[in-house]
Amino acid sequence: MIRILIIEDNLLNLELVTDLLEENGFIVYQARTAGEGVRVAQHILPDLILMDFGLPDMHGLEATAILKQSEITAHVPVIALTAHAMKGDERVALEAGCDGYFTKPIDTRTFVETLTQFLPNPQTQDTPLKSNAN
Ligand code: MN
Repeated sequence: MIRILIIEDNLLNLELVTDLLEENGFIVYQARTAGEGVRVAQHILPDLILMDFGLPDMHGLEATAILKQSEITAHVPVIALTAHAMKGDERVALEAGCDGYFTKPIDTRTFVETLTQFLPNPQTQDTPLKSNAN
């Protein structure tokens, strides 16, 4: 099962993304602050993190830097959730170590498919092993 951690303080957006992901079979963990998000990430080691920028305790990019500087979580993809109005946020996100970004409001028709592209792909990695076993 693929586990995704959403770090987002806006309850409506948090619930929207959670519903979308759960409908598509993902296991979802939620955090409403950066500090909580970092703690949960280190504890559960999710397959991917969705990171809001405007969080109550610190900017999402600061939290991303903490995650990327930690040996425990450095390999976990972090995808930014940036506000559509904030031109330049996308470039800033990638430069700061995010692996990708979504602009809010998210497009519910393409969100899950796009997110899947950011996931490590265990199917591809496992295929040769399964073929050898047959
Ligand atoms: Mn926010």
